[in-house]
Amino acid sequence: MMLDYQSLLLALGVSAACLMVTLFGTWFSRRTDSFLLTLAISLCLVVAGIAVYSTFSSQSGLAPAAIAYALFMIGFSTIYAASVQFRIGMSPWRLAGTLSFVSLALGMPLILAGLDGLGLIIMNVLTATLLVGTGCQYWTARKEAPGPLLGMVILYCVSGFSFALCAGVLIADGRMSLGEPPVNWAENFNIGICIAGMTGIGALSLALHQWRMAALHRHEAMTDALTGLINRRALFDQYGGRKLNASTAVIVFDIDRFKSINDRFGHSAGDEVLKLFAQDMLSEMIAEGAAARLGGEEFAMVVGEVMPGRAERIANAVRMRFAARDIFIDGKLVRCTVSGGVSVGTPEGQPFETVLSLADGALYEAKGAGRDRVEIASYLRSIHPAPDSRTSA
Ligand code: GH3
Ligand code: MG
Ligand code: MG
Repeated sequence: MMLDYQSLLLALGVSAACLMVTLFGTWFSRRTDSFLLTLAISLCLVVAGIAVYSTFSSQSGLAPAAIAYALFMIGFSTIYAASVQFRIGMSPWRLAGTLSFVSLALGMPLILAGLDGLGLIIMNVLTATLLVGTGCQYWTARKEAPGPLLGMVILYCVSGFSFALCAGVLIADGRMSLGEPPVNWAENFNIGICIAGMTGIGALSLALHQWRMAALHRHEAMTDALTGLINRRALFDQYGGRKLNASTAVIVFDIDRFKSINDRFGHSAGDEVLKLFAQDMLSEMIAEGAAARLGGEEFAMVVGEVMPGRAERIANAVRMRFAARDIFIDGKLVRCTVSGGVSVGTPEGQPFETVLSLADGALYEAKGAGRDRVEIASYLRSIHPAPDSRTSA
């Protein structure tokens, strides 16, 4: 049985309404990705447009066509703005408002003047442009989640193409005033594509949301919330089990007498000191490597592609930068120091865990030797004796 145009329109309206509810529900449960809310609002406008358009008939006059035109144009402008919001995170409303204004200015006067055929051609051309433009936005963002995003690009572009076909058939028909909805093969094809496209886009938008959430959780699990550095787990994920060669060094730091900072000034002052130390480490960080908080007031740096002696200089630069810092707590100037231990891999490769524990041993010696100094692992001293660890940088 062939479905008539009204039934197809009803199916489109129902599927758009279901999608709108799903997107809104997903946004509501987390309130994170607000592009889902923007999409839900845009679908609400499109559903209202479909409902009004279904009342457009030879008896109804042009009012339903004009109102549906407005709802569709604002809805599709908002769909485009949601894609820009997804890509760059900006608020979508100004863009949606501008695009809606321009599209209303282009077609609405024509419909109100009785040229509804021409108005519908303009509506189809603008909708095709907005949908292909939306596809282009997701194409630009495809690196984030290639699978779902490429799917969305295809669906938006195919839907856009089906609106362009409607415009083409209306142009070929040549009637500028219709007085009722055009019914032709392109319109039926368009609704069919929109029902399939809408379902697909809805599923992919939700997949995209999940993808983003998973990436966010991964990032959170690997990041130290206080300092923003990577945490111990991330450092071991990156280097655990790897063999370090002679040009890769591990430096470990431990802030001196940190407990007394907490005892004298409170835990939150201690937290501030930890953040400042993390900044000092990052200031001396080189491109090849990583800076991590191992836990408490202990930190580690891995530095790669370094000549002999360079890792000690980096460690001492961090130590001196931190010691020279004027830290004000409750208006009082406080100075803090840090001790460091350095070890390097071997030409034949030494497991990261071994290099780290050798660096730890050197740190222990730096503490024993009076703190505020950097020591290199004992086995390295015969290879390249350390410069005076209290003064060099
Ligand atoms: P040393 O010079 O021998 O390293 O002495 P220390 O006082 O730095 O070492 P100790 O291990 O005795 O104390 C470390 C303190 O670090 C104890 C703990 O309360 C504090 N600490 C651990 N994690 C945090 C944190 O996240 N914030 C703050 N404020 N303090 C922390
Ligand atoms: Mg410690
Ligand atoms: Mg300490």
